[in-house]
Amino acid sequence: MPFDPTDIMKDRLTDIGPPKYDKFFPPFIKDNYGKWKYHEILEPGVLVHVSETGAEVYTVRVGAARLMSVDLIREICDIADKHCGGYVRWTTRNNVEFMVDDKSKLKPLMDDLKSRGNWFPIGGTGASVTNIVHTQGWVHCHTPAIDASGIVKAVMDELFEYFGSHKLPAQVRISLACCLNMCGAVHCSDIAILGVHRKPPIIEHERVQNVCEIPLVIAACPTAAIKPKKVGDYKSVEINENRCMFCGNCYTMCPALPLADGEGDGIALWVGGKVSNSRVPPMFSKLAVPYIPNEPPRWPTTVQTIKKILETYASDARRYERVGEWIERIGWERFFEKTGLEFRHEHIDDYRLAMTTWRTTTQFKF
Ligand code: SF4
Ligand code: SF4
Repeated sequence: MPFDPTDIMKDRLTDIGPPKYDKFFPPFIKDNYGKWKYHEILEPGVLVHVSETGAEVYTVRVGAARLMSVDLIREICDIADKHCGGYVRWTTRNNVEFMVDDKSKLKPLMDDLKSRGNWFPIGGTGASVTNIVHTQGWVHCHTPAIDASGIVKAVMDELFEYFGSHKLPAQVRISLACCLNMCGAVHCSDIAILGVHRKPPIIEHERVQNVCEIPLVIAACPTAAIKPKKVGDYKSVEINENRCMFCGNCYTMCPALPLADGEGDGIALWVGGKVSNSRVPPMFSKLAVPYIPNEPPRWPTTVQTIKKILETYASDARRYERVGEWIERIGWERFFEKTGLEFRHEHIDDYRLAMTTWRTTTQFKF
């Protein structure tokens, strides 16, 4: 039945959940579910999985911009119809994977993908820079300090050769979040791009009591910089600017405390995080560069700084070593020396458990 705005509960469907995952399995995946013996990467972007039944499945991974039109999705569906029996999948890093069940189908699929300009670049496997997990930026969110899609495009353009090759010591996960809500993976990535503010919120006193729940705003501040204050006839808040470190949490809670600022906002780069348990436990990423200005549309300083970090790692790390493992082995003082990044007071943790991050040994390198 069509939606009736005068009777919104009529014919309402709810709590049906997503369609069951195996409804969209290609037949060869369904038949070999739980029976896989091994896999190999045949070349960058191309995998084969072999089942104990003898079946082989070839996967071609292609880059995608994540934010895409229905037209592009239709084109992806056309490719899937033509080569893959109508089946296609997206990865956890928003790459697209096309699968075929016979080696003879692989070349026609890859030739077709390559013939479509650079819309479907093949890669993202093994020791590569795969897709950048990212957020909404200026396209849709109200709290960003930076854009997402624009920076991701600029960085991937510069690092494109690393997407379609296996030249690095290990896989390098880059991610971006446009504010420190950190939607996504910036806190746990090899290289992370994070939007930061550098100025305290503006308080729109005449609006606070009408649009904000003041106790919520006060409780939102990690440094207790906010307290209630009567301003004229208005019930409002006061911000101790010496305690504010511009996180923007209070704006998330209260639209009358905006803090975005064209010149103040910019990028912090973080390095050395990982999620997997391989070799060493998962690691948080740590601050490498406190601030780089927003430079739309190509963010050249950010792009070149990331490239420098990546290529220093690529030339210095041992095989299988992730960025964080490499830094822990050589020491942070060497990381700053080799990358040429400036070590500044902002790098020194000063929040609650900060002491655990300071050096409590005489071991260091000059
Ligand atoms: S990281 Fe922040 S600005 Fe970006 S989408 Fe998430 S909440 Fe919005
Ligand atoms: S921006 Fe963050 S630190 Fe500053 S007052 Fe708001 S919640 Fe507190």
